Amino acid sequence: MKDIISTLKVLEVIGIREIYLEKREEVSLAKTNTKEESLKKLFDSYRDCTKCALHKSRTQVVFGDGNPNSPIVFVGEAPGEEEDKQGKPFVGRAGQYLNRKIEEVLGLKREDVYITNVCKCRPPENRKPLPQEMGSCFPYLRRELEIVKPKVICCLGSTAVEGILGKKVSVTKVRGKITTYPYDTKIKVLITYHPAFILRNPKADPQFVEDLKKLKSLAGL
Ligand code: SF4
Repeated sequence: MKDIISTLKVLEVIGIREIYLEKREEVSLAKTNTKEESLKKLFDSYRDCTKCALHKSRTQVVFGDGNPNSPIVFVGEAPGEEEDKQGKPFVGRAGQYLNRKIEEVLGLKREDVYITNVCKCRPPENRKPLPQEMGSCFPYLRRELEIVKPKVICCLGSTAVEGILGKKVSVTKVRGKITTYPYDTKIKVLITYHPAFILRNPKADPQFVEDLKKLKSLAGL
């Protein structure tokens, strides 16, 4: 920085008051990490995380998955049994339902969107993560969203809403609602059901479809 200031002073002395910075921008852009690289660095930083008790029962940390250049990020609660085994989010029955809806309603493949969870390790017996566990894991999710910087975050279920917006809600009352992400208000947040809820309550399927149509339009697809 000191070098830049002294160079500018010298230029001013010799009468140059404007400089063309395009080349400098190109150089600095060339040095910028891609989203994939930044995510890899982030994942590497917490693959052995022991910040909360969930590390004791996990098989592995389950990172976000999919296209980090997608305008859409789905956020769920935490890995289940299958996710914990395979090391990928939403690969169990609920994930298969979500994949189907992504194809049918959004006209996309699962690999076209980005999918992650509030907590990155499986809670024992698939219980809801405790507030302390969600709080310990949130910095990873926050950084992940900072890197991906989607147009819309789709919260799947109440734990996702709690993690993203920091407040408890009844999803049946607020589903379909749109708000903004507190850490970047340019990012929209859409609230809907968790796919596992719809598998238990198939009558909620049309509402989920309605929410995904809203998501499609918010994402500009
Ligand atoms: S849930 Fe998150 S904070 Fe807790 S051990 Fe796993 S990665 Fe670390």
